[in-house]
Amino acid sequence: MSKPTNSPELRTMPVLAVRGLVVFPGMMLQFDIGRKKSVLAVKAALDADRLVFVVTQTDLSENEPTAEDLYKVGVIAKIKQVVHTSDEGIKLHVEGLSRAEIMAVIQDEPYLIGSILPCEEVSFRQSYKTEALNRIAQEKFEEYIRWFRQVPPDILLGVMQQKDSGKLADFIAANISLDFEQKQCILDELHPVRRIVRLNEILNDEIQVMTLEREISQKAQEQMDENQRAYMLREQMRAIASELGEEDNPQEESDELRAKIEALQLPQVAREKLLKECDRFAKMPYGSHEGSVMRVYLETCIELPWNTASPERLDLARAEKILNRDHYGMQKVKERFLETLAVRKLSDQATGQIICLVGPPGVGKTSIAKSIAEATGRKYVRVSLGGVRDEADIMGHRKTYVGSMPGRIMAAVKQAGTNNPLILLDEIDKLGQSFKGDPSASLLEVLDPEQNSAFQDHYIDLPFDLSHVLFVTTANDASAIPGPLYDRMDVITLGSYTHDEKFHIASKYLIPKQLKKHGIKAAQLKFTPNALHAIIENYTREAGVRTLERTIGSICRKIAKRIVSEEEFKTYSVKISNLEELLGPKKFTKDNADKQDEIGLVNGLAWTSVGGEMLPIEVAVMEGTGKIQLTGSLGDVMKESASAALTCIRTRADRLGIESDFYTKKDIHIHAPEGAVPKDGPSAGIAMATAITSALCKAPILHSVAMTGEITLQGRVLPIGGLREKSMAAYRSGIKTVIIPQQNVPDLAEVDQVVKDHVQFVPVRRIDEVLPLAIPSLVGLQSREPESKIHVEQPQQRPVPVLRQ
Ligand code: ADP
Repeated sequence: MSKPTNSPELRTMPVLAVRGLVVFPGMMLQFDIGRKKSVLAVKAALDADRLVFVVTQTDLSENEPTAEDLYKVGVIAKIKQVVHTSDEGIKLHVEGLSRAEIMAVIQDEPYLIGSILPCEEVSFRQSYKTEALNRIAQEKFEEYIRWFRQVPPDILLGVMQQKDSGKLADFIAANISLDFEQKQCILDELHPVRRIVRLNEILNDEIQVMTLEREISQKAQEQMDENQRAYMLREQMRAIASELGEEDNPQEESDELRAKIEALQLPQVAREKLLKECDRFAKMPYGSHEGSVMRVYLETCIELPWNTASPERLDLARAEKILNRDHYGMQKVKERFLETLAVRKLSDQATGQIICLVGPPGVGKTSIAKSIAEATGRKYVRVSLGGVRDEADIMGHRKTYVGSMPGRIMAAVKQAGTNNPLILLDEIDKLGQSFKGDPSASLLEVLDPEQNSAFQDHYIDLPFDLSHVLFVTTANDASAIPGPLYDRMDVITLGSYTHDEKFHIASKYLIPKQLKKHGIKAAQLKFTPNALHAIIENYTREAGVRTLERTIGSICRKIAKRIVSEEEFKTYSVKISNLEELLGPKKFTKDNADKQDEIGLVNGLAWTSVGGEMLPIEVAVMEGTGKIQLTGSLGDVMKESASAALTCIRTRADRLGIESDFYTKKDIHIHAPEGAVPKDGPSAGIAMATAITSALCKAPILHSVAMTGEITLQGRVLPIGGLREKSMAAYRSGIKTVIIPQQNVPDLAEVDQVVKDHVQFVPVRRIDEVLPLAIPSLVGLQSREPESKIHVEQPQQRPVPVLRQ
């Protein structure tokens, strides 16, 4: 129980308003004062009993506080010491004596004087509860100072020894760092028990905040330490590397790569993965193999055009102009492409079908793709698929393999430097297969618009969006394109060029192009139309215009040399008469002109991936024992076809005037020369039958006739493919009559008009119609097999192989 005190009486004394601090009874405090009013108040107190009422301002910013700006409760303090620090400043040493309330301010100027009522000590009962409260306060204080080591030990001692709850609360409040409002809150509380309760609450909050603060700052510190550590280590590595004279150390390079990766604005997954690789790279010993593999990988990834695209041009008129500027004809391709462009203009989403250009070499497949790229403002890259046999060629090798690199598709994208180029997949029909996977399956992944937006090359190992790439493919032979790929593409067939088309292409496109390429002015080199016709006729034999372009190029080179070496040179005109001098002797002649009708030699027609071809077939019959020999590069189907032809003739031996036992007494040799291109297929059936008949009957075959058609054992003529190309070859060789199967008549619509104008097509149903047309000297044939006897056609069948060799 604290002792009751006498009733206090109102006193008048100078008031010292302080900012941001609170003086407690029983505490010594030192502080500076500078305000004039405060100095005067202190002086007045010194002149009297050295007592002053110290009270805290509610508003820190107020310079001239009045009664309203002061808290009510303050402390009557005794001035212990005054030190003048400057002209106006004073350092004051005071001791708080007792709580007091300011009842009124009775003077404002020149300093504050107040009417002060000392607070009565409130009496209370010391109990277990107060004891408990005291202990809690002491423990909390102890905990509190654990964070604040700088609290002097005698203060802790003071706290531990204090038994009076009110004084304990004052003592603790005075010695911890609280803001002045919280301290004032303790001062305001006149009841000692309530005061200690309030202090405990404040201490509790304070400790919680401090714990949190500490946790946060600890975390920040740890993070900082980690960064600091990494930084220090990197710096050390750099220093070591520079000591060793290894200037490009992995750390520096990794930093550079890191900066580049950050600048790329990659998708989150890619970015994180590459940064991780960078960290791994930084730890690699300088010059190590693995380090350099990793560097190449990172550089490759960084160089990919993740976000670089060329601005797409969708101007139809401009595109059409470019396509027509570079290419003659090719209407189907041009139209198909302009349609795609139009759709693209209407819909952003349109992921166009993949166009596949099929046709013989040199008909402009590659070069039109280049023009399409230019017309749409895309970069152009060609990927040759010829001979690609492994899946890894398309998809890349995993980077763990020695010498691994990205597949051809990603390499092309990298080469383009944009993510929306036109990629020409050349010769898709030449894709091979090996035990290392099927490349066509990988290509499906590349071309499928559903899948290619996240194409994952094995080497790059990150998804890359290929959906903006325009893929165009080319092939010579549509039938050799792997089925699933074929289904996915829009196939456009380009046929061989006629003589007239070649002439037009040469004069309008190839000559100007070659002149420009060789730096020759149009006025310096001219080609007469006759010379051009002769070049096409006598120096080239091809479906496209590649050799023609090369031949024109070689003339340009020769003239370029003359321009440079002859001072007098003005102009040169290529005429028929100087072709020999420029190009050497003719390479081809309309060979039929000087050919003669021969026994056992027939003009077959073949279709290969490089276009139509004449396929001469020779048959020789000799006395012997019935042996049959087949030579030339003939495929299996062709051999079967030869057997069928032979059997068919045997069944007609009697009618044809051939000895019926010829197959036991004569050896027959069938040969298809010019075997550079392997030939297969059943379409030479009637040609072989005709040659065998001619050889057996010793009757010559007309050299102006060519033929194509499959033969059955019964002598029916079945339809064939590639009529357009075959007839073109016949026309080129100067053939006058082409015998074709009746069922191919609808295909004549596709045959070029020039060819139709120069060649007579004779449709036939049976071999018996073929023989009199090709071997007119065969006596009495016509009458034996009248037209009326022609059977109704059966559906197309492959002949049953009868090999008797
Ligand atoms: P492909 O890819 O079909 O083998 P290219 O595209 O290499 O053929 O063509 C060979 C050359 O012939 C190229 O210089 C090309 O410009 C030219 N060429 C082909 N067709 C045409 C055409 N219709 N108009 C103009 N030039 C053509």
